[in-house]
Amino acid sequence: MVSHCSNPNCMKPLRYLREGRIYVFDLPDLRSKHGLSRHLEHFWLCGTCSRSFLLEQAGDNAVRIVPKASEFSSAIPLAS
Ligand SMILES: [Zn+2]
Repeated sequence: MVSHCSNPNCMKPLRYLREGRIYVFDLPDLRSKHGLSRHLEHFWLCGTCSRSFLLEQAGDNAVRIVPKASEFSSAIPLAS
């Protein structure tokens, strides 16, 4: 489970889930040698960061943090 803000310049410890925003992405399981298995991975942006940034899946196996001002429509919605 995620324990810190996903912004590498922040890294605020996760204490309250109601603060900020949780993202879930379907990513390849890198521990699998076959490359076929996938798993849901959780990311968290703290309250401060989630006001300025969002997370989106970049390609098949990466997640990136992007400023909210840019291309909001490309944001990946939360998994249900
Ligand atoms: Zn943060």
